[in-house]
Amino acid sequence: MVKKYKIGILKGDGIGPEIVQAAVDVLNALEFEAEYIELHAGYEYFKKSGKAIQDGFFDAVKGLDAILKGPLYTPPHEKEFRSINVLLRRELDLYANVRPFRSYKGFSLKEFNFVIVRENTEDIYTGFEFLYRGVALALKIISYDGARRVSEFAFSYARSNGFNRVTVVHKANILRISDGLFREVFFDIAKNYPEVQADELIVDTAGYMIVKNPERLGVLVTPNLYGDILADVAAAVVGSLGLCGSAQIGRDIAVFEPVHGVALDIAGKGVANPIGELESAKLMLIHLSNKYSDRKLYEKAFVLERAIHKIVEELRILTPDLGGNSKTSDVVNSITKLIQSNNT
Ligand code: ATP
Repeated sequence: MVKKYKIGILKGDGIGPEIVQAAVDVLNALEFEAEYIELHAGYEYFKKSGKAIQDGFFDAVKGLDAILKGPLYTPPHEKEFRSINVLLRRELDLYANVRPFRSYKGFSLKEFNFVIVRENTEDIYTGFEFLYRGVALALKIISYDGARRVSEFAFSYARSNGFNRVTVVHKANILRISDGLFREVFFDIAKNYPEVQADELIVDTAGYMIVKNPERLGVLVTPNLYGDILADVAAAVVGSLGLCGSAQIGRDIAVFEPVHGVALDIAGKGVANPIGELESAKLMLIHLSNKYSDRKLYEKAFVLERAIHKIVEELRILTPDLGGNSKTSDVVNSITKLIQSNNT
């Protein structure tokens, strides 16, 4: 019997609702058997209900197979409104944020395929900040356990996805204790993976390498802040933030969302690039395929990947961020047609 997956849907803010709907339409075209359960959180929800996250959110998440999510807005001007992204990462313990970056012919300057694995629960994102006599302090937290599990994840990801190199990114030449611990734990864990080469890059050099020689990179593992920043640099090298998706992996649940933010400047105009969200849906299919040994889902992910590349590289049905004038719906309809005509 075909398993019916229980997928939480969190549409989010800005362009979130448009691109999440696009992903659900494409998943339906792929005949992905799912029951979708809508979850509510974010700034739009806050404006309507006075709550940033629905009551019972974390109970509703129990029993789900995965969550497909749009971006959530954290208004910088409302000091009382704390980031829901950070809350979800902490409460669901989504410790590894996986962001694959693959080149597109005609958009990316070089051909490459590398992955940033970002530690997702610690570093300065714990939000411990103080102001004392005109001096502002923020705590950077790096724990042994946090560094260990994300390093283990990165090596095991490399092994199962055909990468032979994992690089730790840090600034341990300056932050000898905090980044020093992250680095040290990484090289300890590396001993358990003798078939994978382990090396290191200082974060500024990593930024340079991503732009200059992305073809030399494999899996990069980073503390939280560096991964956040480097992922946007990597997205620019791919060609657009709108092309990149991510998986946030926890012990019990995984959340899939695009690398980009809410893109308020284009929200509601029907021109958002849905591919970052579609890439996230693809990562969800691969994750569920591995978790439940469901080979069919892997095939669906592969069909989706081929359709995305065909639309961008050959048929050039492009939203304005890629220099075209297609709408979100044009991209979705074309991908859906390719899938349904088995023509990927
Ligand atoms: P956040 O604070 O949520 O990270 P932001 O505005 O700082 O949001 P993004 O939302 O990622 O950052 O947007 C950065 C730029 O990239 C904006 O000009 C936006 O329009 C563009 N952009 C982001 N995502 C997309 C997309 N899916 N399609 C088209 N353009 C996008």
